[in-house]
Amino acid sequence: MRTAIIGAGIGGLTTAFYLLRDRPEDEVHVFEAEPIPGGTMRTDTIDGFRFEAGGNGFLTNKPDSLKLVEDTGANDLLLPSSDLARKRYIFTDRLHRLPEAPGPFLGTKLISWPAKLRMAGELFVPKRTEKGEETLQEFGYRRVGKEFTDVFLDAMTAGIYATTPDKVSVNAAFPLVVRLEQEHGGLFRGMLARRKKQAGPGGILMSFKGGVGSFLEHLRTVIPAQWHLGEAVTEIAREGEGYRVRAGDFDEPFDRVVVSTQAHAAAQMLRPLDTELAGRLADIEYSPVAVVGFGWRELDHPMDGFGLLTTTSAGLPILGVLWDSSIFPDRAPEGAKSVRVMLGGQRNPELVDQDEAGLIATAREGLRLTMGVDKAPDVTFVQRWDRGIPSYRRGHIARVDALFAYLQRYPGLYLGGNAYRGIAMNDCVRNGRELAEQLAQDSA
Ligand SMILES: Cc1cc2nc3c(=O)[nH]c(=O)nc-3n(C[C@H](O)[C@H](O)[C@H](O)COP(=O)(O)OP(=O)(O)OC[C@H]3O[C@@H](n4cnc5c(N)ncnc54)[C@H](O)[C@@H]3O)c2cc1C
Repeated sequence: MRTAIIGAGIGGLTTAFYLLRDRPEDEVHVFEAEPIPGGTMRTDTIDGFRFEAGGNGFLTNKPDSLKLVEDTGANDLLLPSSDLARKRYIFTDRLHRLPEAPGPFLGTKLISWPAKLRMAGELFVPKRTEKGEETLQEFGYRRVGKEFTDVFLDAMTAGIYATTPDKVSVNAAFPLVVRLEQEHGGLFRGMLARRKKQAGPGGILMSFKGGVGSFLEHLRTVIPAQWHLGEAVTEIAREGEGYRVRAGDFDEPFDRVVVSTQAHAAAQMLRPLDTELAGRLADIEYSPVAVVGFGWRELDHPMDGFGLLTTTSAGLPILGVLWDSSIFPDRAPEGAKSVRVMLGGQRNPELVDQDEAGLIATAREGLRLTMGVDKAPDVTFVQRWDRGIPSYRRGHIARVDALFAYLQRYPGLYLGGNAYRGIAMNDCVRNGRELAEQLAQDSA
């Protein structure tokens, strides 16, 4: 069986790994437009500072990434975040510590007393009975109140999806909270029930020594595929029962093809095959986001935590700041400090259009306003993602279900990656592994 996997992000690599582990007799070709695998998971080292172009790790509250690490023999690459990383901040009118327990929550000045009472009233909000997707804002206003939503849920959505609560489907982006409501009648009730079941400790943020890029590079070395790095696939055409894959001078037949690229890239290569399929793929929108990293050999700021997120109402030019060298000390040389500033998203998409100097200036302004840091950095890193994170707008689940139902008319053609059913590394790994299982099943 000859399989082409297009896109060597974490999703495509996971599919390639498990497929070849379970069917070593298969011939698997991996195509990646960039010269290195990893997609948005890439680490750049500049003068001893390590900057992640995208995510900096995964949470251990789900088993998928840890299992992939173990299955690929990379346990010794694992790097847990420092205990300091549990301390998080939100910037509204000033920096506030994010309360993690009921006691500190009662004392927080992030929201008013009436808002705290409204939130406690969640216990008495009836379960939603209407069908169809809600935005996170609709869900939040209904269950926990406007003020809580506009502070906590707004900051959280900026941090995870680079979007805003009114633009994201709660069902697609936060399925767990919807399940808590549906299965237990509410969030408090659901969380209590889950806590009783899961007696063990919650998850922590985990990364890799040398940055996430070291794990992605490790995957390349342990996947016995035929590699086509730096080769962008331009077209997938039907041929008999299978497909032809075209990439530059490469033009060969495959029994099946897995497209694990961003949805808009998939649309482009599939348009000659089926314009409707391409249209459905192109309909999945992305949020633009820029990552600006700074390193200082000396900086007089405690950076005693994970970092900070901002709220829309704070009116700041940045979404948040990750205090990288506090989370994973190996990201900066001994005694030095580093941060990454996130900006743009659905909140301020126009900011991502700036040139590099503009992005740096905006990020420094954000640091000045939130952390009081004005010192010129010794090292700077800039990564612009014009289409960084799939938006999962309202109706996303219905759109994706219809897309996959439509795909049924193309046996041997599969879609993978973060555009459809989860963006976190754990989701991409789970979906990538399940896709490999489906491929193995379909060849039986
Ligand atoms: C700024 C940022 C921060 C994030 N932070 C976190 C985090 O902290 N934790 C977390 O769990 N997740 C995080 N994420 C999300 C997570 O990293 C991504 O969802 C995940 O890495 C996506 O993997 P993927 O394989 O679906 O896609 P991608 O990584 O996008 O890979 C797709 C690949 O397809 C390739 N490709 C495109 N077109 C073609 C073509 N024509 N031919 C061949 N190859 C092609 C691309 O070059 C790319 O390498 C973050 C994402 C971003 C952008």
